[in-house]
Amino acid sequence: MLKVENVTKYYGSFKAVDNLSFTVGDGEIFGLLGVNGAGKTTTFRMIIGLLDKTEGQITLNGKPINYDVTDKIGFLTEERSLLTKLTVKEQVIYYGVLKGMKESEILEKLDVWLKRFNIEDYKERKIKELSKGNQQKVQFITAIINSPKLLILDEPFSGLDPINVQLFMDVIKELKRQGTSIIFSSHRMEHVEMFCEKLVVLVHGKSVLAGELKQIKKEYRKKNIHIEASDVDIKKLKEIKGVVDVVENESEIVVKIESDENVNDVFAFIKNCKEVTKFVVEDATLNEIFLDKVGVVYEN
Ligand code: ATP
Repeated sequence: MLKVENVTKYYGSFKAVDNLSFTVGDGEIFGLLGVNGAGKTTTFRMIIGLLDKTEGQITLNGKPINYDVTDKIGFLTEERSLLTKLTVKEQVIYYGVLKGMKESEILEKLDVWLKRFNIEDYKERKIKELSKGNQQKVQFITAIINSPKLLILDEPFSGLDPINVQLFMDVIKELKRQGTSIIFSSHRMEHVEMFCEKLVVLVHGKSVLAGELKQIKKEYRKKNIHIEASDVDIKKLKEIKGVVDVVENESEIVVKIESDENVNDVFAFIKNCKEVTKFVVEDATLNEIFLDKVGVVYEN
């Protein structure tokens, strides 16, 4: 288990991380979220010991993180840091050896991962000859080649197409099932929503929203009702008590309500409309919760 307790980081007089605490259990996927400059990378660097904390404590399975445990940590850095003149094989061997692995073991695992990421033909190719997406796959392989107990992924999906985002997510879920603690940063809420159980949202280095995703959504009372019907009087719909907004999409109407207590009134109105084929009440999206709590436009 990774435990971050009351961690603060100052760069000179600037407070980049402010009294941050969270835990990531074995086999848990944890999201560290925030806009640019919120303090995500700083937090990661403190976890792996690249940066000193100003205050607080960070432990992995009860022990401070030092060189004895870094072999069991995998880190995908935000600024992709491959040695582009090396071949894929040389690069992965380089990282694997740094993590204390034998070359034979590295090569065995490398073949499995190259196949999994559909890049087995690139093994002897120089990194610089690979596309950005394929370079990212190689970087990801370097982070997991040592079968880490703790995997830190700084913006792992940036620049990937949807198919490769899915591929990365599948591998991350597989590592979770094997008991790896995974912590990743993203400013894309929809990625977080897809597979993250716990999260903390940072604003100016401070946690503004934290906990289990399911719980956060449950506790957030505003809901969205998705409706398909014809001849809906939008003006009257907007006048119903508790209706905050009505959005007309191509195929449906989305009614945003203050609380689930307002569902009945909306239903009573809609049931008198024609051709009602859909009436579905859904939790607000994480992005909506974020906007509401933080009150800033979140960049995608
Ligand atoms: P991004 O999503 O843009 O990568 P981030 O959430 O990872 O952002 P950090 O890189 O941790 O944010 O930066 C947090 C704050 O600390 C920012 O205001 C940044 O300008 C500042 N900062 C980061 N590194 C340094 C440094 N070496 N010296 C001074 N200030 C720094």
